[in-house]
Amino acid sequence: MVINMASHTTPTPREGHSAPANSAELAQNLALVEQRILTACAQAGRSRDEVRLLPVSKTKPANTVRLAHELGLTEFGENRPQEAHQKWQETQDLPGLRWSVIGHLQRNKAGLVAECASEFQALDSLRVAEALDRRLQTLGRSLDVLVQVNTSGEDSKFGLPPQDLAQFLPQLSQFTALRVRGLMTLAIFSHDHERVRTCFQTLHTLRDQLRQNAPQGMSLDELSMGMSGDLDVAIAEGSTTVRVGQAIFGARQQTAGHYWPGVKED
Ligand SMILES: *Cc1c(COP(=O)(O)O)cnc(C)c1O
Repeated sequence: MVINMASHTTPTPREGHSAPANSAELAQNLALVEQRILTACAQAGRSRDEVRLLPVSKTKPANTVRLAHELGLTEFGENRPQEAHQKWQETQDLPGLRWSVIGHLQRNKAGLVAECASEFQALDSLRVAEALDRRLQTLGRSLDVLVQVNTSGEDSKFGLPPQDLAQFLPQLSQFTALRVRGLMTLAIFSHDHERVRTCFQTLHTLRDQLRQNAPQGMSLDELSMGMSGDLDVAIAEGSTTVRVGQAIFGARQQTAGHYWPGVKED
């Protein structure tokens, strides 16, 4: 399936979100995002601490991560394993950093994630779970994982179909280095907020159903949903983690296909 990325709302930077050239601009972008989160929480009757902001630094240089770290950010999301691993290496001197890999993983890259990441949000197969677990066991590490769900039904999206989760989750118990924390999704690429909202509602409902029979010790507290373009809707629908790139770090030069390898463009 070919998606016309021109109609994709999310990567379009909002007014006032230019690429931050310095710390003051970055701080300003961050304040705008923080205000949106606060407003969305207030409107939903939720507390601000129920929502984690995961800044997504993909395509931005390690120096941008340094600037953000000076402003107090310690968690960063990357969707490509190689890029995550490289920035992890380049920022070894910064205390307290946590890297979250949020994009599709191929088994042969599992070692990179096992080594550098604290969290992996795009688990979608037992083969990848097995590869990650094996690497983690060798390194004596463990990893928080979220299972990616394809809530839009688009062929181009990674993630398991919602109906596969009940079978999939119990099988993860054998991988003792993986701590299953919850679910993640990317909403449909659409200007139609109600279609976006439906994706988030699907994830929330699915999580509530799965939690009733969740394997022992498997917390499904996390609902990672919402990005620069739709974080407000996601928070209204119960998001516990919003993954925000462009609204903080400015527009990306790369086309969507560059960082979402599954998305085809014409
Ligand atoms: C890039 C990316 C984001 C952030 O998107 P923005 O539009 O830059 O906020 C969120 N989630 C995933 C999986 C991504 O790849």
